This record gives sequence, structure tokens and C-alpha cells, in this order.
Amino acid sequence: MSALSADTAQLITEKTDGLADRLIEWRRDFHAYPELGWMEYRTTSIIINELKKMGYDVLYGKDACKEDERMGLPCAQEDEEAVARALKEGADPELLKEIKGGHTGAVAILKNGDGPVIGMRFDIDALPLQEFSDSGYFPADKGFNSKHPSTMHACGHDSHITMGLGVARVMAELKDRWSGTLKILFQPAEEGVRGAKSMVKAGHVDDVDIMLAQHVWPHEFDTADYAPGSGGALATTKYDVNMKGLAAHASGAPQKGKNALLAACTAVLNLYAISRHSGGSTRVSVGKIEAGDTRNIVAEHAHFEMEVRGLTTELNEYMERRAKTIIDAAAKMYECDYEIIRMGEAISLDSDPDLMQQIADAADTVGVRANDPHWVEMTASEDYAFMMKRVQDNGGKASLLLIFTPSKGGLHSVEFSVDESVLTKGVKAIVASAVAQMPAR
Ligand SMILES: [Zn+2]
Ligand SMILES: [Zn+2]
Repeated sequence: MSALSADTAQLITEKTDGLADRLIEWRRDFHAYPELGWMEYRTTSIIINELKKMGYDVLYGKDACKEDERMGLPCAQEDEEAVARALKEGADPELLKEIKGGHTGAVAILKNGDGPVIGMRFDIDALPLQEFSDSGYFPADKGFNSKHPSTMHACGHDSHITMGLGVARVMAELKDRWSGTLKILFQPAEEGVRGAKSMVKAGHVDDVDIMLAQHVWPHEFDTADYAPGSGGALATTKYDVNMKGLAAHASGAPQKGKNALLAACTAVLNLYAISRHSGGSTRVSVGKIEAGDTRNIVAEHAHFEMEVRGLTTELNEYMERRAKTIIDAAAKMYECDYEIIRMGEAISLDSDPDLMQQIADAADTVGVRANDPHWVEMTASEDYAFMMKRVQDNGGKASLLLIFTPSKGGLHSVEFSVDESVLTKGVKAIVASAVAQMPAR
């Protein structure tokens, strides 16, 4: 590994500052046209074309994610509507043909001589929320509020895509300053932790030596701009559960029915009664339930949406095991059939301490201040953990940076909006961290 020369650090700073206006343009555009997971069509089309212009080899369509490892896909009708909307909103029609059917996301590769393989992950999807639009809210005041009803970049992935394109551009412009291979993964469907595993299964990070990703993180700028690493993200599994019973007249022949509604309710109440674990924190949540047709018919069907979490992958597995026993037993009590559909999954993650130090040192040379301590605890879940684990299992190192941003609303709230100064800070910190890991030319 080479330390970053003062000369290269200065170039990174200048090139990134020169891009500041472009970064803001990109961010506002992505913010105005948010797209939900596996339907990021306009977004992916822009990403691919920008990367090609910068000189990258770009993998997309069925090469981006392993087809049968994608979790939580939308239904066919939603998908078709999303493709049609993207077309109307300026997506490249030729690219759309290749990415429709939920083949969103892209991998940009720049082979630039001998040296390590540096991987990066930027997530690109939005959330099903109706954005706040009153004055005093930055995107509303500046006129780039979401144009899509009930869809919003409330997790800051608009700024992540932007940083990803910014990093790609600066790394390409500084090609004569580093030697190695750069692989930038633009990941679909991070929300609901559905997409990362399918990129890992496609083999994109198998040869990666150093893996980096970032997430914007609500925090004041007072003493630091970012945390070089994080951990404590909860492992999690998301399920949809369908109970199937038998309809019967609720008064005339209730004994002939099999009550799916009662089976589901029994399961839900007992899911919350799973014993806590002495090994660390766990969670269970059922956030949605639907059952039956009307009051005088024994409910034939029930559907609920649930998740479990655990501080470690093992604790999450404990929760999964107990949850499945309860669902199975509740179904049996009412002689119902059931199916459990896995909708998303993430494992726990931890940044490598020595890599965090190297990131802190590199970013410091481009004027981006690291938090003390370097490691900040996450209480959410993040499927980037699958990429980290693959790289770490292969002997490489990985980290998830948290880029601080003041915000009135927290992540996943309708008033979440990043401070736009994070765009250049993020690009500088990541480019410096990457270049510092590679031999100079
Ligand atoms: Zn999120
Ligand atoms: Zn996020």
C-alpha cells in the first residue's frame, strides 16, 4: 500500500470541488425521480450511460444480479408500470429492453494495471413514503421534491448514487495516479435488504481485496464529517406468511371451516412471545396483516408481513427458528396450510479496524475529518454485510463509512434530506481511501 502523496491529495480535492455543481444536479435529479427496489429503471439507465461516457466497462441487465437470488420482487403489473413511467421520464429505450423485469443495478469496472482490486457499493433505491412538501423543507424550497406519489428517497440513496458517479468520474480522471482494478457496484433493492446477496452470488466481489461503502447518517458536523467504520448492524430476515384455510358459513356450518384468520392471529401473538436471548439483543415485528372476506364467512386466507432481527447472525438464526416453529404450530391448531416466503435478508457486519485507520488517514489528507472513535454503532440493518463478509472470508478487508449530515428528519422519515455539502466530502473520502490502497503509477 502506498500512502497518498500531497500532490495526489491536492488533485483529488481540486477535481472533486470542480464537480460540486454537477453532483448537486445529479442528486436533485435522482431525488425528484425516486424508484422502488428492482424498479430503478430511469436511475439505472442514467447510471449506465454516465459510466460508459467515463470509460468504464459496465455490466448490467442479467449480468448485474444473479437472477434467482433476487428477493422481494414486485408483481408483474407494478413492474410494467415502472418501465412505462421510466420510458416517459427519459430512460434510454434500448437499455430498458435489457433491464426490464427487475434487472436493475450495474457494475462498473476499470482495469488499470497491476495492483489490488478495490470494490465499492452504492445503493440506488427509494422508499414507499409520501415526501413532505411544505415550505421550509429544502427539496420543496428548491423545487426538486419527489415527482412520484408515495415514493421518496428517504434513506439518502439519491446522494449515494451521486457519490458513486462522482467517485467514478474522479477515479477515471486520476487514472495515472493509481494502479489496480476498480469495481463499482450500484446495488438495487437495498431497502428490505433484498439486493446485495444477488450481487454477491453473481460473483462480483469474489476477487475484491478492499471493499468500501458509505451511508449518509444524521449527525451534526460539529467535530467530524464522517465515521470511517461501523458495526453492530442487526442481522435480519423478512418474511411474508400466507395461511390457507377453508371457507364455510359462519353460522350454518362453522365446524366445516378452517379459520386462517385465527391461525394468523395466534401466530402473531406468539411471535411476540418468543423468549429473549441472553446472548444479545433480538427483535420481532409483524407490521401488516390481512385476512378473510366478510363477517359471515370463516376466513379462508390470511397474510402477514414480518421480520426478525438479531445482534449477530446466530441470534437472528435463533429468532428465525423460533418464528418458524410458532407459525407451523399455529397453522396446525386450525388445520390450515401455510407458506413462508423469504422477502429479504442481511447478516451482521463489522468494519476492519486497521482499514478504518487507513481510511481516516487518507481522508484527512483531503480535509475530511474522521469521527473519534472511528467506529459508530448502527441499529438498522444493511445487506452490504453480505459483500463485506464475502471479502472478509476471502482474506480481504471491508468497511462501511457513515457520512454525517444534519437533517431535520431522521432516516426513513418524510423530512429526511441531506446537506448537499456531504456530496463532495463523501467523494473525497472514498477516492482518497481507494487511491491510498493502491500503488502509484
Ligand atoms: Zn433505508
Ligand atoms: Zn439506506
